[in-house]
Amino acid sequence: MTATPLTLQPRAVDHPVDPSVDHEIQAIVAGETTTATCNTDLAAGPWTFDSRPGYGPGSSMGDVIPTGAPRQGQLPAEYREADEAELAARIVAAKATLGERVVVLGHFYQREEVVVHADYVGDSFQLANAALEHPDAEAIVFCGVHFMAETADLLSRPEQAVILPNLAAGCSMADMADIDQVEDCWEQLADVYGDMETPDADGLVPVIPVTYMNSSAAIKGFVGRHGGIVCTSSNARTVLEWAFARGRRVLFFPDQHLGRNTAKAMGVPLEQMPMWNPRKAFGGSTEAELADARVILWHGFCSVHRRFTVDQIAAARAEHSGVRVIVHPECPMDVVDAADEAGSTDYIRKAIAAATEPTTFAIGTEINLVQRLAAQFPQHEIFCLDPVVCPCSTMYRIHPGYLAWVLEGLVAGEVRNRITVTADVAVPARVALERMLAAKP
Ligand code: SF4
Repeated sequence: MTATPLTLQPRAVDHPVDPSVDHEIQAIVAGETTTATCNTDLAAGPWTFDSRPGYGPGSSMGDVIPTGAPRQGQLPAEYREADEAELAARIVAAKATLGERVVVLGHFYQREEVVVHADYVGDSFQLANAALEHPDAEAIVFCGVHFMAETADLLSRPEQAVILPNLAAGCSMADMADIDQVEDCWEQLADVYGDMETPDADGLVPVIPVTYMNSSAAIKGFVGRHGGIVCTSSNARTVLEWAFARGRRVLFFPDQHLGRNTAKAMGVPLEQMPMWNPRKAFGGSTEAELADARVILWHGFCSVHRRFTVDQIAAARAEHSGVRVIVHPECPMDVVDAADEAGSTDYIRKAIAAATEPTTFAIGTEINLVQRLAAQFPQHEIFCLDPVVCPCSTMYRIHPGYLAWVLEGLVAGEVRNRITVTADVAVPARVALERMLAAKP
């Protein structure tokens, strides 16, 4: 296959970098730039696509709406019609009025206009832990996506309200592992392996379920009930070692790429990593393949990270001598193999911060983070491997208008968009999270 030639547009190091991806998207909408976005809905402007209240759009807009998925009503006109400066002023004023009563969390992939108001910026687990630093805050406003708000609710005190400013901010990857499908998968695996609870002569059960943090609370609860554990992109290897000490094999969901990249680095052969497609009997594998499996990979992926390609890396190397390519482990295996390094968002941030000489970095992760790093470290040349402007389009739904709306609601004594995990799910989900915290290399 012939490689597609790519023209990358690295950020100029001698000019200040605008960290706002939204400004770039609005320039595309206005026809002021020839750059493109990956999603025509984003190029329609936030209120045009948000005029269809509900789930998506974004990475998962072509998918069936998951059962019980939260629905967002339309934002009142006073917020939709306010400009960026007015919304910023209203957010600042509401936060000042609320003081210590509220803590605002901003994910690394969140848009800059929201992140500037965050008390903490980090990955989903760092932010859930940051909320623990504020046990007296009445409300935790989580500017991320739905599963992140659920995790914060699991770890926060019962009387604290966790708020997701836009209920339509889901995660397409998390939605790819539906609890009914996972329960069905477990029953089919029991048909192949027999008793799933009783250890064999070596003290190992047939399967340990492992879920990535990017999954619903229902999946974390399932994992907790079946002797399993949660992992992050930072500790996936440690968690898999924990699981292999207790089981013959691992059922890993929802992200096939994180599972495959991690297990491959641990020496698990690819032929012992069958994929589980929930729409097929036995996930699409034979019983013999399942019997031989070490890691069963759920058929899930991140729509943002799967856009990165080996061709983009080749283009970056051709155009930038000495470029250092770092990608996220949610990228496909061939991309991780072609990169110089792979690591979590925190790894990427620390790697750039630790570089003492001016360096050119080509980064394979979500563009809001890349753009912010480029602005934060002007001594380096930092650009996104993907030449198209492609944010996490579900997280992009947390427009500042929604943040202003929930904060002013709190000022008025009204809790809007509270995310609550029911006790039957929360208790086993916390068990799975506690196992992760206790798993040490
Ligand atoms: S970047 Fe991917 S995995 Fe992360 S929230 Fe967005 S869709 Fe989900």
